[in-house]
Amino acid sequence: MKYSRQRELILETLRHMKSHPTAEQLYAHVKERLPSVSLGTVYRNLNLLAELGIIRKVESAGTTSIRYDGRNDEHCHLVCSTCGSITDVDLGMFSAIDESLHAQTGFTVAEHGIILKGTCATCALTRRTDA
Ligand SMILES: [Zn+2]
Ligand SMILES: [Zn+2]
Repeated sequence: MKYSRQRELILETLRHMKSHPTAEQLYAHVKERLPSVSLGTVYRNLNLLAELGIIRKVESAGTTSIRYDGRNDEHCHLVCSTCGSITDVDLGMFSAIDESLHAQTGFTVAEHGIILKGTCATCALTRRTDA
């Protein structure tokens, strides 16, 4: 009973954060609403939720820390190589590419496991003002 309430709060908090947080970042937010929660509990529940396919683990390039994604529907990620931010891209963006691929090759795209690496808007702005 107690455990499932914690898990619900962890899941709800993760779904509200669009930043694909690490366990530590998520823990800081969960702790605001549930001061008694431990980092170990957050870790355990995140692993369980990921095993159940309710959330997803995201490997972020350049760091060893695992990030968590509250969305389990198919979508793609824009990963900033400067600050490590992860931004969601919906599949609608790819429908034109899928159609053009199908027309050219007859191939039907079923999955988009795409990670696009580059520079996010914030980092691009910082770079410009630095120069
Ligand atoms: Zn950035
Ligand atoms: Zn995502």
